[in-house]
Parts: sequence; C-alpha cells; structure tokens
Amino acid sequence: MKIKILVSGCLLGEQVRYDGKIKYKNETLFRLYEKGFVVSICPEVVGGLAVPRAASEISVDRTDIINKEGKNVTPYFIKGANIALKYCIEHRINVAILKSKSPSCSNNLIYDGTFTNTLKNGKGITTQLLEKNKIYVFNEYQIKEALYMAGIDLNDI
Ligand code: SF4
Repeated sequence: MKIKILVSGCLLGEQVRYDGKIKYKNETLFRLYEKGFVVSICPEVVGGLAVPRAASEISVDRTDIINKEGKNVTPYFIKGANIALKYCIEHRINVAILKSKSPSCSNNLIYDGTFTNTLKNGKGITTQLLEKNKIYVFNEYQIKEALYMAGIDLNDI
C-alpha cells in the first residue's frame, strides 16, 4: 500500500478558507498530491461549513468554537475532526501536515478567542483528535520533518 499523508486542503491551493481566498499553496505538497501521496482535507468544509464563512476561534476558556458572528459552531468542528480521523484510519495515515494557527488544523498556535488577532499556545480541534489517536501532526513549516517521519524521500518522486 502506498504511503499517504493527510494535508490541509488550503495548503494544496484548494478554495476552502473561511474568506474564500487561495493563499497558501505549497508547491512541494502539491507535487506530493499529484504523485498520489496525499489525502486532502479541510475539516471545516467536510464538517459542514460553507466557503466563505465567518472566521471562528476557540473560545477563551477553550470549551467551544465561536464564530465572529457569535454563533457556536463546535459541532461542525467536531464532525470535521472525526472525518479527518476516519480518513487517516482508512488510508493508514500516521503523519499529517496541517495549517498552523487554525482553530481546526494548528499544531502550535491558535487565536485566543477575542478576535483581536492575538495568538496563544494551543492546538486546533482536528489536531487534538489526531494526536490523541497517535497521528503525528506537523505544520507547513515542518514539511521536511514530516516527510522523514512518514518515510517519504522527495528525491524519489
Ligand atoms: S486551515 Fe484547515 S480548516 Fe482552515 S481552511 Fe485550511 S484546511 Fe480548512
């Protein structure tokens, strides 16, 4: 079975971001995608949220996810995280490369829940679930480490 990694759709240039913009296409990841090494996911979109959508942040007390309009969107985020885990199980994935600073995908920093553009330490909802299930989650600045962990050599593709 071919090695697969899970990658955030926005890092592949898919139009899935909350603002509908394509901002972060990563050429290395896209090449891996074209060669069949990547399962793409946007947890927020597969969880049922639209493009565009109101930006969301994990609440200050970290109990819920609230969008900028004040709506509690936690169930969408949980559904998306569970679908991401399902993809990993189906494809025997144990490495993911997900977008930093996202309330779904981040493995390091999240916005603090005040919508004031302030970051704090924390992980997105999907990352939390994947890590609980022993899947290594890296971000777009850690691609080399992620590929090493997955056993993919860029020189071979
Ligand atoms: S960071 Fe994650 S949830 Fe946000 S647009 Fe990218 S893939 Fe979707």
